[in-house]
Amino acid sequence: MTSVVCPYCFDRSPAARLPYRCQMSPTGVRGARPCNAELDTVWADFMGPTVPPALKMRGPVFTAPRGLSRRLAPSGGGSRADCPACGGSTPVRVCRRCHSDFPSDYCDQDTRIIALLGPKASGKSTYVSVLLNELRGRVGRAYGASVTAMGGETQRRDRELAEDLYDRLRLPGATRPAALGFNDPLLYRLSLPLRRRLRGDGSRHTALVFFDAAGEDLGSAEAMDRYTHYLAAADGIILLVDPLQMRAVRDRLPLDDGPPLPVIETPPQQIAADLAAQLRAHGRGSSRGRVTTPVAVAVTKTDSLAPLLEPHSPLLRNADHSAGALDEEDRLTVHEEMRALLDGWDSGALLRQLERDFAQLSLFGLSALGSAPPADAPADAPKSGPRPLRVEDPLLWLLGLDGLLPRTGGAAGAGARTGPDTGARTGSEGNS
Ligand SMILES: [Zn+2]
Ligand SMILES: [Zn+2]
Repeated sequence: MTSVVCPYCFDRSPAARLPYRCQMSPTGVRGARPCNAELDTVWADFMGPTVPPALKMRGPVFTAPRGLSRRLAPSGGGSRADCPACGGSTPVRVCRRCHSDFPSDYCDQDTRIIALLGPKASGKSTYVSVLLNELRGRVGRAYGASVTAMGGETQRRDRELAEDLYDRLRLPGATRPAALGFNDPLLYRLSLPLRRRLRGDGSRHTALVFFDAAGEDLGSAEAMDRYTHYLAAADGIILLVDPLQMRAVRDRLPLDDGPPLPVIETPPQQIAADLAAQLRAHGRGSSRGRVTTPVAVAVTKTDSLAPLLEPHSPLLRNADHSAGALDEEDRLTVHEEMRALLDGWDSGALLRQLERDFAQLSLFGLSALGSAPPADAPADAPKSGPRPLRVEDPLLWLLGLDGLLPRTGGAAGAGARTGPDTGARTGSEGNS
């Protein structure tokens, strides 16, 4: 049964039980007049006082009687139901708990919530924009995957983010401070080929929900309340760590040509500790105290770390996806490289914190842009455009844990859990 998680309040529900909203359109059915808008108090309470009164008047919400008025659309996707009051047919599903409308194709597949967490200045909007671009291009090709924005709002912002970054070469956060906000998640449909051995040809769809939560806010009581459901509902968390926030890294880098270093904000180990405390408080801790939600810790801006890396470091090249399967050995190589680096930074405080708190942890290194913004224009992308390094690795790992992607190689080690198809392929062409 398809299980849907509301991307606004995180209530989980079987898709079949979601109520409908009448579209108030004339139908000619039964000669009835269409419904009038009525005050949706559930939705109005959820949205709070900032919504103008007129917008709180909406089509009536109703539950379709089982089997009677509900029917599958001819295409096989999306169901419709007839409004019991006016007889008008509607495809619009709403959340049971908060009455938010879902995008039209949101309820046709399981929801997977990927929480994105990082300090304010870590360029999360840039990261998401580049990640999606890679999923649509290079990475999507290798896995036969496709990604589409769901709903008008995500489609609009998705386009804006891409135009900023790829056409105007402007970093999204710089032009739109709330380009990726907590209150408006980005919703995507990820389609992956079903593996033939299991169920014949076809696609498997997953709704991906990306949120931006500022790591600094996790400590405050007010934000704790807002993030609670979000973090507890997450199937996986990508925690972005800006290495330029760490004194040991700042002290070691040659600083003659790049843009000025960012202001030091909340230390990453503090963000990690607050995250773990939040998850534990909401039932995501094991009996031994470690958090069970898989956490991909991604050190960003790895291009700026090049002076600290060996020339053959795996962090300086992309993973090889040509086999159409995740290369577990490559992931472990990156994990170990990152682990060694973190161990040497700020006395290994972040590494110790992470390993103490998270049972399923993998370390990554990535660069969304591939090089620093121009020194004289820190809000611009590099003149060459983004040339990302390993941006896809954390998300692919999280998807692989759930068996959504095939994996090869290195079954043991940090965070490894063997998928059902491991061993079915003959290995990757990677040479690591
Ligand atoms: Zn909801
Ligand atoms: Zn109606």
